[in-house]
Amino acid sequence: MPTSSPRTAVVTGASSGIGAATARRLAQEGFHVVLGARRTDRLAELAAETGGTPIALDVTDADSVDRFAAEVARCDVLINNAGGAKGTNTVAAADEDEWRWMWETNVLGTLRLTKALLPKLVASGNGHVVTVTSVAASQIYDGGSGYTSAKHAQSALHQTLRGEHLGEPVRFTEVAPGMVETEFSEVRFGGDTERAAAVYRGLTPLTGDDVADVIAFAVTRPEHVNLDRIEVKPRDQHSATRAHRTGN
Ligand code: NAP
Repeated sequence: MPTSSPRTAVVTGASSGIGAATARRLAQEGFHVVLGARRTDRLAELAAETGGTPIALDVTDADSVDRFAAEVARCDVLINNAGGAKGTNTVAAADEDEWRWMWETNVLGTLRLTKALLPKLVASGNGHVVTVTSVAASQIYDGGSGYTSAKHAQSALHQTLRGEHLGEPVRFTEVAPGMVETEFSEVRFGGDTERAAAVYRGLTPLTGDDVADVIAFAVTRPEHVNLDRIEVKPRDQHSATRAHRTGN
């Protein structure tokens, strides 16, 4: 492998929240960052700040993923971060369009990006796939079935890769956050900022930077060290359904 050019980290969902913070942090760690998302105006700003490369990406569209991957000449690290939730319907009232959005983005999006970039990750001689799942990848809660089932599936996909590529020069790390204050809840509640703010009321949630810190730690370990799964939550959060809040 050429050692003169910087290692390249591809970050999906880099236009906001955890993805934007991770791209900033990995650029500080010396990576060339490739930034993927649909809101290209935001990517352009982040590219100017980080010296990275912005490329339009819709992870739900196979052609968009193909075009994106074709522009990525080198890939040492892939951060599968694009994703999110829509709605809080019970199973009895499930909205199939919301389910399709969540499965397409979190599950099939991760599948498409990983498939497209794995050959380059392995060819790098020291590849690393980090998939951002959630506490919802190992827990369920009322009104969360579309999201929890998608995150469980995304986690199963990710864990399977670890076995299928054993013996190859590529690492796999799942990062499973609890509450992080980003645009996540606004997206989930269709732009209802009041309802989104209530999710984080009475406690100090994680920030995108807190999760980026964990991701950066995982990808900067020596290449024989594989952090398989890291769950990170605010101190006041016990589980997907239980948290300590003040002022309530
Ligand atoms: P966010 O601020 O809403 O960011 C989501 C990112 O995903 C945006 O950059 C968005 O970019 C991108 N994205 C959504 N659909 C996409 C598509 N079809 N193609 C490409 N990119 C797409 O939320 P976040 O909290 O940072 O979420 C990042 C990841 O963390 C998600 O996988 C989420 O499930 C997970 N997570 C979040 C929390 C939390 O409490 N915030 C907790 C656990 C796990 P564009 O809209 O510009 O395309």
